[in-house]
Amino acid sequence: MTLQLTTSVKYLKGVGPKRAEALARLGLRTVGDLLYHAPHRYLDATSVTPLAQAHVGQDVTCIGRVASTGVLPTRKGLRVFRAVLRDDSGSVLECAWPGQPFLERQIKKGQLLLVTGPVRYYHGRQLVPREFVILADEGDTGPDRGLVLPVYPATEGLTHRQIRALIHQHLESLLALVHDPHPGALREAVGLPDLRTALAAVHRPAAAEDAEAGRRRLAFDELFDQQLVHARARALAKRSRAGIRFALKKELTTRLKEHLPFELTGDQQHAIREIADDMTAPLRMHRLLMGDVGTGKTVVALFAMLLAVENEYQAVIMAPTELLAEQHVATLTRLLAPLELRPDLLIGRLSAAEKTAARERIAAGASRVIVGTHALIQESVTFHRLGLAVIDEQHRFGVEQRAALVEKGDAPDVLLLTATPIPRSLALTWYGDLDVTELRERPPGRGTVKTALRTEAARQKIYEFLRSECAAGRQAYVLYPVIDESEKADLKAATVMASRIAKVFPELVIGLVHGRLKPEERDAAMRAFRDNAVHILVATSVIEVGIDVANATVMLIEHAERFGLAQLHQLRGRVGRGAAASHCILLSDVPEAAPRLEAFAQTTDGFKIAELDLAERGMGELTGARQSGGVPLRYANFATDLPLLEAARRAAAQIIARDPALARAEHAAYRERIVQRYERGFELFRVG
Ligand code: ADP
Ligand code: MG
Repeated sequence: MTLQLTTSVKYLKGVGPKRAEALARLGLRTVGDLLYHAPHRYLDATSVTPLAQAHVGQDVTCIGRVASTGVLPTRKGLRVFRAVLRDDSGSVLECAWPGQPFLERQIKKGQLLLVTGPVRYYHGRQLVPREFVILADEGDTGPDRGLVLPVYPATEGLTHRQIRALIHQHLESLLALVHDPHPGALREAVGLPDLRTALAAVHRPAAAEDAEAGRRRLAFDELFDQQLVHARARALAKRSRAGIRFALKKELTTRLKEHLPFELTGDQQHAIREIADDMTAPLRMHRLLMGDVGTGKTVVALFAMLLAVENEYQAVIMAPTELLAEQHVATLTRLLAPLELRPDLLIGRLSAAEKTAARERIAAGASRVIVGTHALIQESVTFHRLGLAVIDEQHRFGVEQRAALVEKGDAPDVLLLTATPIPRSLALTWYGDLDVTELRERPPGRGTVKTALRTEAARQKIYEFLRSECAAGRQAYVLYPVIDESEKADLKAATVMASRIAKVFPELVIGLVHGRLKPEERDAAMRAFRDNAVHILVATSVIEVGIDVANATVMLIEHAERFGLAQLHQLRGRVGRGAAASHCILLSDVPEAAPRLEAFAQTTDGFKIAELDLAERGMGELTGARQSGGVPLRYANFATDLPLLEAARRAAAQIIARDPALARAEHAAYRERIVQRYERGFELFRVG
């Protein structure tokens, strides 16, 4: 059998059924997957210390021949594998692997070994390797230089060292299968190595810079593919998708404005105008409305919905949870009452009869403003004349779910809402085919949120504060980063803490939500909190974005250092929704985390925090961004790769402009890769 990139890994030498299974758990099914399995970090073992100069207390990399081996028990009953290394100068050094007697089968006398780790004192100098590599067998000569060692994402039953050995064993034959799809001119313009060089450098770098150059090339490729998809989608949308041309009748929208219980902020007015311009233009609207929690996206969306409704179309808003849908329906009912309009609700927890009735009203066109959840995209739901689809917390939906709602209409306009702001430059590049509107201004009359960073020493004081707030009729959230006690870290699991909190506050009702609850259970717990039947809600980070409990004034976040800044910001947004002053208290006993938590405490601007978060983690992690392309990013790091993203976008746009369906022979490899990787790839690049 001839090896191809699509050949199953199980045909590789050294891969049995067990290993194939372990590899599959890592998503590695073909030999191509294995070749593209990138190390998540490197261990720099390039500078080698002669054995004689490895001193106690240092962390060193050494190379030597194995002079002897043995397994010894220690006093604690732990079996220790030991190997004595000797180098050309005749010096020796003992290495010890506590608890790994099985290494006896791997490390043999005569082998040339590289070890890296700390040197301690134990009846003499002893190196305790974190890593080792067998450089050569007995009698063979190996490199006497150091190495940069790739460390791979591993899984149970397959260590990163085994993965490294497997990849290295087959690297040459796998590299031979790879063809670079980019012409030399493009590589040169962006400053990229060719594909084979890049992959070799990623897996077997001579220096840390080589590995980085290789990663950069792979990152460019994935960004480039994604930008080709964006450019094509944009071109298709522009060409074929005429939208509805709504007329500015100023009937319902004007009446809403007259009856609003508050003044719109300047940003809201601007957003409403931008959206109206889109909706009255012949092209289809495809717009993202980004705004921090509490900036008032819902009412902006409502204006858009009314513009559709006064044009005899239906408008729908889909939310990710039943609770949010209920909240929307309550808000819209209130705002629309003076207009004698009633929104209809379609969610899973309605009775069968209620659902049938709602579906009938929607199909007949009796419903004009519709609010719902995923229940809206079921097959049994048909719209009479859908003109506008609004998707709230859009990143909580998959691409197909968003598409499913939109396809319920005949080319309706689309408005996406998100409370996870990302820097504008990035949004424009990333959501290549979307227009973006920002809401930065907060409505006036909101209580402020004070953020404070505290250590464990302040716990009793904090509890007293919670007690006094609750005694004054307010409510509080207490947040934990994980739920599972078995998680090895010494985190206080939410369940344990809930009972502890219950003991501290015997006079209060304590609620609990965590990730293991079923959606209905979670919604029920949140509902009880919303209805003020629960004073303190103990939760993991699952509490809903967008939920609006104006009476909650305290957000206590334990182990704050465990959260990303964007996540902290979302959590903080749960309070400060009413007129009362609110407090976000970050508890953390990790001094290294203090600067970033302080920086967070200093600002409430979600866009600024998004930038800090981006610098901290890179964009692969940002919610929404990860899913929006349909394919997760593996190599790109947006904290550093923004220029690379720009280059990819330019190159992709030029190619799509010249060859929209990638039909030319020189682009066949691009087309093939996209069709393979992207779910909608084939559809997008179908010729004609
Ligand atoms: P988000 O952007 O987080 O979705 P919402 O749309 O839920 O925010 O609005 C939060 C709250 O602010 C709602 O109670 C809403 O009625 C209120 N609100 C919206 N706009 C204004 C405004 N201009 N002035 C005062 N309150 C407003
Ligand atoms: Mg909202």
